[in-house]
Amino acid sequence: MVKQLGSGEMNSLYVENLGIILTEKCNLNCAHCFRGNKQCRDISPEVIDAIFAQVRVIGILNICGGEPTMAIDKIEYLFNKIIEKKILVGNICITINGTIYSSKLIKLCECIYGYIKDFNPKGFIGIYVSYDKYHLEEMKRENICFCKENFNNPFFAGIRELGNNLKLFREGNGKSLDSNLTIPLRPMRFFVLDYSAKEGIITHKVGPFITINIDGTITEDNTTYENQQTIYNYGNILTDNLVDSLIDNGAKVVKKEIMYRILSKKEVNKFLSYNE
Ligand code: SF4
Repeated sequence: MVKQLGSGEMNSLYVENLGIILTEKCNLNCAHCFRGNKQCRDISPEVIDAIFAQVRVIGILNICGGEPTMAIDKIEYLFNKIIEKKILVGNICITINGTIYSSKLIKLCECIYGYIKDFNPKGFIGIYVSYDKYHLEEMKRENICFCKENFNNPFFAGIRELGNNLKLFREGNGKSLDSNLTIPLRPMRFFVLDYSAKEGIITHKVGPFITINIDGTITEDNTTYENQQTIYNYGNILTDNLVDSLIDNGAKVVKKEIMYRILSKKEVNKFLSYNE
């Protein structure tokens, strides 16, 4: 068991891929949406503060929803907190449905990009637009169009499509799709690299993917809000030590970077191939 972090060891974690669900709001209700029923709820500042009370370095930050453009004030709070706490972030990815354009989002991206590239010239921030038959069908049903500005701003990084043979997770609205098109959710395995034998600020690296939802629950990404609170509830960042929560939920602890990399890569490949 890894010891509980004392006050002198706070803000000492490196998360390889961190997904933060900023909002449960969305203006669409796609037939494949694994989140299921939309709720009118956003993340609280306390949850964002609690994340950065433990996390100091993030490889890739994925800003998730719901529809992130419906929670611009939360993105602003998140980015301001990253800058204020001097959090090291490699890349930031935001996926939106493309039907709402926010000039404020572009300004916030400019601001955080200015911060990131100061310490990481290769740092990247990209806004992706979901573009697949389920989104398009739902937009047609709701008579909602893409905002073209979402495709020609400096941070537009591409569209997110679904591969031809890609099976979707049987979660949320996905449960109503033809069962030939869906598979049960495969929960992600976690790994913890223990740096505590070394002298340094970072005590642990965790991954490959960690998701925190609006309530602070440490959970799976590709599932409903209800399941995040119940069967995929691995603790809460507001009250729990992230490393201990992952270990209590089966994370394997390793001492060598090379071993962490091998296991993490294998897990990602397994996750992706399971979903073919
Ligand atoms: S898939 Fe995305 S855009 Fe569609 S309903 Fe779910 S959160 Fe909204």
